[in-house]
Amino acid sequence: MLDQYKDTIIALSTAPGVGAIAVIRLSGDDAIKIVNNVFKGKNLLSEKSHTAHFGTIRNDDNEIIDEVVATLFVAPNSFTKENVVEISCHGSPYIVQRLIKLFLTKGVRLAKAGEFTQRAFLNGQFDLAQAEAVADLINADTEASHKAAMNQMRGGFSEQIKNLRAELIHFASMIELELDFGEEDVEFADRDDLKKLVNQLLSVITALVSSFDLGNVIKNGVPTVIAGKPNAGKSTLLNALLNEEKAIVSDIAGTTRDFIEDEINLEGVVFRFIDTAGLRDTEDKVEAIGVSRTKEKMKQASLIIYMFDLKNDTLTEVNRDINMLENLGIPFIKVGNKVDEAQKDLYAEMQKDEKTLFISAINKDGLEALKTKLVETVNLENFKTGDTVVTNIRHYDNLVQTQNSLNAVLRGLDDNITGDFLALDIRHALRFLGEITGEITTDDLLANIFSKFCIGK
Ligand code: GDP
Repeated sequence: MLDQYKDTIIALSTAPGVGAIAVIRLSGDDAIKIVNNVFKGKNLLSEKSHTAHFGTIRNDDNEIIDEVVATLFVAPNSFTKENVVEISCHGSPYIVQRLIKLFLTKGVRLAKAGEFTQRAFLNGQFDLAQAEAVADLINADTEASHKAAMNQMRGGFSEQIKNLRAELIHFASMIELELDFGEEDVEFADRDDLKKLVNQLLSVITALVSSFDLGNVIKNGVPTVIAGKPNAGKSTLLNALLNEEKAIVSDIAGTTRDFIEDEINLEGVVFRFIDTAGLRDTEDKVEAIGVSRTKEKMKQASLIIYMFDLKNDTLTEVNRDINMLENLGIPFIKVGNKVDEAQKDLYAEMQKDEKTLFISAINKDGLEALKTKLVETVNLENFKTGDTVVTNIRHYDNLVQTQNSLNAVLRGLDDNITGDFLALDIRHALRFLGEITGEITTDDLLANIFSKFCIGK
């Protein structure tokens, strides 16, 4: 816990706008005292932590602004480990604004983005990776992203990193001890043991690094492109998929989740259709899929739905496209559209490939099979085993840097380089690992991370 005085900060913690209840949060040494000065009900200063109290909040003219419930969290038993008061008031933006304005005249200041979570981190509530997971948890809107964020917030990922780092610190200090002995030929750090540890570390870190592909899918969705010749039926398919999603989203009563244009959620995996503007824009339709501009767009995708036209395409055209897609190296699903008006020969020929799906986008036939195929292609199975998945690009970057430094250590060991160079590479690896959990931080790093949070978090 930091010893210095912590000024008291305030922010609306619930979403802005009208609601039944809004929660305003204050945190800092004087939080309870300041609220008590304007609160009529009980004397909050003599109440216990984790208790809720009904009362009114009045302005300087003794006019009631609102009836509220004040919940007390006495330091260090709060999210920030400081004194915290959560004021539940009526969910009117006007009331919220008047209450916050009142407190601003009482020695409280507005919280900066992420400041509550930053204070929690600085006061040792959790490490940096866990703090970042708080933001992910708030933003999680699928089962998989919720699970990944919850896992990270509960420290699964951090624990692994911290343990590895502790073992490496041991070796670093042994090697540095050798350096203190200067010319004398002593070896405190057994090189074979060090090599074994570095290899162990590398295997764990490599697994974490490769989990990022999956992590990214979980967090950001699968960028998907529907490719095919003009008039194959791409926009008809897209509209059919999106309209169903729209219907599903609006069916869930009471949810505040907005319908996100161009995204569908299948069994907890979000597919984000990219460049759908191009599909809707008629002028764009003159392009064939082999054209370089279309190829560029396809390269941004992790998954391609290749749609050919059973009514109008020739087998040569379809084979040429499939050939081109195979060379592109991005997973693709072959979908023959207009099965309702298919040319018999082409249909028969394409049916020989059991991986090809046949649909009628206009009649919404075959869409279920396509959806199943989409989910299968992403394959979330690995994730379900409960392995740690890296979802944060900052962690990913640091893990890759750690990997590079550890590989340098291994090379150094093979080349019998001197202890001082070995120590240097080990220090690099330690720094990159330490930055993930926040054991090593700089002001810039913290500012960068917490400024991405919303105010009130
Ligand atoms: P895009 O250029 O690939 O986006 O193609 P569109 O979705 O605009 O469709 C081109 C034409 O094909 C339109 O006239 C659609 O009505 C028609 N179409 C789309 N899907 C089907 C289908 O399953 N069967 C038939 N017969 N026509 C379709």
